[in-house]
Amino acid sequence: MNEYQSEQWDALLLARQLLTRMSAEEGDRLKKQILPYLEFRGRVEQFLDAHFGAHCTRSCYTNRRSACCSKDGIIVFWADVVINLLCADEDQVADMQQALRKPFYESKCTYLGAQGCRWRVRPLVCAMFLCDPVRETVFQAEDGVEAQWKTLQQRAQDFRWPDKPVLFDYLETYFMELGGRSSLMHINGSPGLLRIKRQAGLCAPKPHQKP
Ligand code: SF4
Repeated sequence: MNEYQSEQWDALLLARQLLTRMSAEEGDRLKKQILPYLEFRGRVEQFLDAHFGAHCTRSCYTNRRSACCSKDGIIVFWADVVINLLCADEDQVADMQQALRKPFYESKCTYLGAQGCRWRVRPLVCAMFLCDPVRETVFQAEDGVEAQWKTLQQRAQDFRWPDKPVLFDYLETYFMELGGRSSLMHINGSPGLLRIKRQAGLCAPKPHQKP
């Protein structure tokens, strides 16, 4: 495992451990809490299927180029890991662990398998990525699609950007209070994001230390 895979592995195991220790009621409460986010992600998928599905299939999937799934290039947040675990079954988690130990493609994202991405709910940064060529093609050809995309991008920030209370920060601070520390807790570990949080008057816990 390289450094990127080890970091992902540690986060996956820690999140799993903390979720397993949780009472069923608390797990259900978290699942309810992420429902608005899952509803948003459903809208993003519908939008992408409607406007980009054919282009992406033609230019990337059929020739297995998958240009957007680059090796060790995806910034995964702690909340991505937790949300995915809350939605995934045991087989899917085992599949992700296998992908970290032994990736299907050596030169692509470790999570990319023969059937595509192995996440149940892939990271937000992946869901919101559109490559320049396909974006230009679609935005020029279809009126109103760019405006719809901008609205979805803005909505994504409502879950992740800590200039107000957001789900991604909540899931970090919640697990930090349970004693969890991960380098994927970027909102409470990155100086830039911590500054945004402080400027918004949100009480920030101390930056995380190495577990
Ligand atoms: S996590 Fe999934 S969608 Fe994101 S880059 Fe990796 S394989 Fe692609």
